Amino acid sequence: MAHIIAVLNQKGGVGKTTTTINLAAYLAKFGKTVLIVDSDPQGNATSGLGFEKQNDATTYQVLLGLVSPEDATLETAFAGVALMPANTNLAAAEIELMDQSDKENRLKKALVGLQYDYILIDCPPALSLLTVDALVAANWLLVPVQAEYYAMEGLGQLMEVFQRVKQTMNPNLNLLGVLVTMYDKRTSLAEQVVTELQKYFGETVFKTHIPRNVRLAEAPSHGKPISEHDKWSKGARAYKQFSKEVMNRAS
Ligand code: ATP
Ligand code: MG
Repeated sequence: MAHIIAVLNQKGGVGKTTTTINLAAYLAKFGKTVLIVDSDPQGNATSGLGFEKQNDATTYQVLLGLVSPEDATLETAFAGVALMPANTNLAAAEIELMDQSDKENRLKKALVGLQYDYILIDCPPALSLLTVDALVAANWLLVPVQAEYYAMEGLGQLMEVFQRVKQTMNPNLNLLGVLVTMYDKRTSLAEQVVTELQKYFGETVFKTHIPRNVRLAEAPSHGKPISEHDKWSKGARAYKQFSKEVMNRAS
């Protein structure tokens, strides 16, 4: 069975998509097969892997049962990494599924039986039906947290939603860990954020921190993961190391 990881923090711009793409790329480098499910109407994982957002077989059609997950899965230019793309259509899914009794189970049903070692779900910056669907489908929650002043804000609420889904709809859901992103070791603020996170989350904070690194920010505009854009950059080395930690924890 696949390890299904929901990459979620309802705060915007904390590194969810960057983490999804680069974790996928390194898991594949380590020989794993990986599917990225773009579950964000912004479609950043889709464009970040070099795909146009015009597509009639996306996560939206899969959630509505119009297209099979297999038919909505694209091979990427990066060996071992497949993608279920998304675009702005996906925003309508929340409304269109509103009256469906199985609305929280749509993604789970779609992903059951797919043959991958890892499935990474790139969530939107919201606690919405799309994120609940991701948490119901997943067996792991991965929370990227940006090392900045408001980092802790919202994490309590996120953990409440995680606990509620675990207790009601998905007892198989567990916290894979908290990943510190955009870490700048020259600032004492970044160090304070890590200390705070460790106080709250203990050992579940990943040992690897992702540094703020311009090469990571550039890579999506080339439609590439960092492993292909600049594999010797600090950002690349950090995501490679982080991917090893993920494989150790997931196994
Ligand atoms: P959203 O909530 O909008 O989906 P997100 O949480 O997915 O955002 P990203 O899109 O991954 O966040 O990152 C936000 C921005 O910060 C992007 O422009 C990205 O390229 C940049 N970025 C992410 N991680 C780093 C990093 N470690 N160093 C420098 N820039 C980064
Ligand atoms: Mg994103």
